Amino acid sequence: MTDLDLAGKRVLVREDLNCPIKNGQVANDARLRAALPTLQELLAKQACIIVVSHLGRPKEGVFDEAFSLKPVAERLGVLLGVEVPLVRDWQHGIQVDQGHLVLLENIRFNPGEQSDDENLGRTLAGLCDVFVMDAFATAHRAQASTHAVARFAPMACAGPLLVREVEALERIVLAPQRPVAAVTGGAKLSSKLGLIERLLEQVDLLIPGGGIANTFLGALGHPLGQSLTEPAFYDQARALHARYGDRMLLPEDVVVTPVGDSAVTVRLIDEVHDDERIMDIGFHSQTRFAASLKGMRTIVWNGPMGAFEDEAFATGTKAMAQAIVSSGAFSVVGGGETIEAVERFGLAEQFSYLSTAGGAFLEFLEGRTLPGVAVLEERAAS
Ligand code: ADP
Ligand code: MG
Repeated sequence: MTDLDLAGKRVLVREDLNCPIKNGQVANDARLRAALPTLQELLAKQACIIVVSHLGRPKEGVFDEAFSLKPVAERLGVLLGVEVPLVRDWQHGIQVDQGHLVLLENIRFNPGEQSDDENLGRTLAGLCDVFVMDAFATAHRAQASTHAVARFAPMACAGPLLVREVEALERIVLAPQRPVAAVTGGAKLSSKLGLIERLLEQVDLLIPGGGIANTFLGALGHPLGQSLTEPAFYDQARALHARYGDRMLLPEDVVVTPVGDSAVTVRLIDEVHDDERIMDIGFHSQTRFAASLKGMRTIVWNGPMGAFEDEAFATGTKAMAQAIVSSGAFSVVGGGETIEAVERFGLAEQFSYLSTAGGAFLEFLEGRTLPGVAVLEERAAS
């Protein structure tokens, strides 16, 4: 997008403006602020700008006030300092003046959005001279506004926000500076198995945390009491550990609490009681993990080390966050709760790159093709 002369051109730009809405107001405008530079650049280029986004998960084909982008249009207008009209009927074309911007109503109200319908893609494409895909967080789903439209628009290109994200993630996936470490915590191994398998093939060191570490510990026969774990994945965890155990570091001590009690105790991993739950990694593990991250030149982090939402169990996650930023490595962090944690610790600014892309972040690191990116590459090649 940055390379194109867009003066007077009709530009349809896909952003991810999917913000939490409370009482008819945007409760967190982080995603709007992330999209601002792209929109400002388009305004400065004197394009005729049409912005398209989804919000939440409304029933397709039905307008529902609760999922309207109205609060987003208002907030975006304040942030940009311009009027942002919200357009509900655009299927038969819309008029936008040069250097002005309009926002289409929630694209998920339209039948065919989620099924990547060709007709909806063509209708969207008909609105513009150039389609700009800038919503990396939606690029892992082939939908009409992320994929079909890019096939049929007269021209399709990547927006600057998407480019930044892809470049940061490529620095991890393609020829990263070694040694490379991955810290993979969070709730469930099942939801990140593909990612962890792929990372284990490629990294020099992998440190599991949270429920994922529990599942490895359980698979290796350590007592877990009432901890969060997934016994259905013990076979796979054991197989991964047998193959890649030499590049994995598992906790040797853990913070536990008895069920229905608030007492907090640190135990060696073989001494967890039947009525206890592992809530965080212990102090020795934190120190050992932090030391092992010191010489790393690339670190990718997804998933908290413990139930950090409770201050009593946030220490392990905080220690890892601090170890990663002070390692001096190129560091990328992603994941809903992980980002929430680093923001709470006030460390967000110190990572090289913070990805808010959720599912797309995980799928990209897994090495999967993202349809919303692939279609741009196809268009660029043809
Ligand atoms: P992300 O959204 O960053 O990818 P996940 O969704 O996989 O991370 O997991 C985050 C959740 O895992 C957090 O809400 C945290 O409380 C929980 N969690 C981490 N460790 C534990 C643990 N030992 N016991 C229970 N919950 C845990
Ligand atoms: Mg999560």
